[in-house]
Amino acid sequence: MHSKVTIIGSGPAGHTAAIYAARANLQPVLFEGMMAGGVAPGGQLTTTTEVENFPGFPEGITGSELTDKLREQSERFGTEIITETISRVDLSERPFKLWREDADAESDEPDTCDALIIATGATAKRLNINGEEQYWQRGMSACAVCDGAAPIFRNKPLVVIGGGDSACEEATFLTKYASHVYIAVRRDAFRASDIMAKRAENHPKITVLWNTHVTEAKGNGKVLTHVELKDAKTGETRDLEVSGLFYAIGHTPNTAFLASQLDTDETGYLLVTPGTSLTKIKGVFAAGDVHDKRYRQAITAAGSGCMAALDAEKYLEDLEAQAHENASKL
Ligand code: FAD
Ligand code: NDP
Repeated sequence: MHSKVTIIGSGPAGHTAAIYAARANLQPVLFEGMMAGGVAPGGQLTTTTEVENFPGFPEGITGSELTDKLREQSERFGTEIITETISRVDLSERPFKLWREDADAESDEPDTCDALIIATGATAKRLNINGEEQYWQRGMSACAVCDGAAPIFRNKPLVVIGGGDSACEEATFLTKYASHVYIAVRRDAFRASDIMAKRAENHPKITVLWNTHVTEAKGNGKVLTHVELKDAKTGETRDLEVSGLFYAIGHTPNTAFLASQLDTDETGYLLVTPGTSLTKIKGVFAAGDVHDKRYRQAITAAGSGCMAALDAEKYLEDLEAQAHENASKL
């Protein structure tokens, strides 16, 4: 199958790109993935309950409803959505080539496209501790900014795991709602920048638990009530009463399938020309969390999906103009 624009990824970035590309009559094809990166089609929002900060929904909307609406809007304007994961691409020549995960590498022809938008998102790292499956989204979350204001966390003690800027920022953010916030740091120092670390350490509502692993999530069967802590030096364990546990141990951008054909930073996030969606390969664009390790919000992902579609449209117009010019010279 050949398309003018192919989009890989189905979160707010991918679908916003699809809506803009479809309305520009580019008949985009969108690969939504089949549990790619461990996340269902629709992206990270499918793993949360209420989304209260996406403009246009004053009463809030569930993550699944929002992703359903984004998908519906893509389809309404003619996006072809394919429920498959792209496992491999070849960006070395045009048209770009893409292989589906279940394709037989030897015999199956690749799909091709003139412009490619990569919106494959990122996956929050988890520890997979005992109790995690039971209490995920029942006191456990990987996004304090998204979930921190929920009633179950208000005026309750909470714990954030991690020692980077995210952990410090999220712990500081949570002090707005929590009675107290603990930061469990696995060694005796923060990885975070000095300024962020000091802000957290000096906050009257924050206690840093150095050399501390969180080894189990415990609860009453319905919601989280405690965590088990383990001292990294002595091995001693104890329970800490908390109503919320937030992972802030980093994200993994879903870029492995690109096999280093595009530039990334040292942690795998795609690099773009600042203020645009342009990657180092002309005709290949990036949108959403796959290139944004700072903001990581649905609305910023959607905004960058719009940018990628507009950049792709301009690229295709320029290609067409060039082709006409070449033809008229003959
Ligand atoms: P993603 O949402 O990560 O979607 C990418 C999609 O692409 C995934 O479905 C993935 O399976 C698919 N994919 C990956 N690789 C491939 C491949 N090779 N082929 C095909 N498909 C592929 N933000 C807010 O603004 N408000 C909130 O309330 C909020 N709550 C959150 C709660 C949780 C628990 C989490 C984890 C995040 C939350 N966020 C929230 C953040 C928000 O979900 C993300 O910033 C946003 O979804 C990023 O969108 P994206 O389109 O870049 O990628
Ligand atoms: P980082 O990779 O910087 O930090 C991850 C933290 O989690 C580290 O302290 C690490 O410990 C800890 N960790 C990792 N795995 C485990 C584990 N299995 N158990 C316990 N702890 C673990 O990720 P961040 O998300 O904090 O930051 C990512 C990038 O985004 C950074 O460049 C950061 O500067 C930037 N950022 C900037 C912000 C700002 O400036 N406002 C806000 C948020 C992020 P260890 O140190 O021992 O490896």
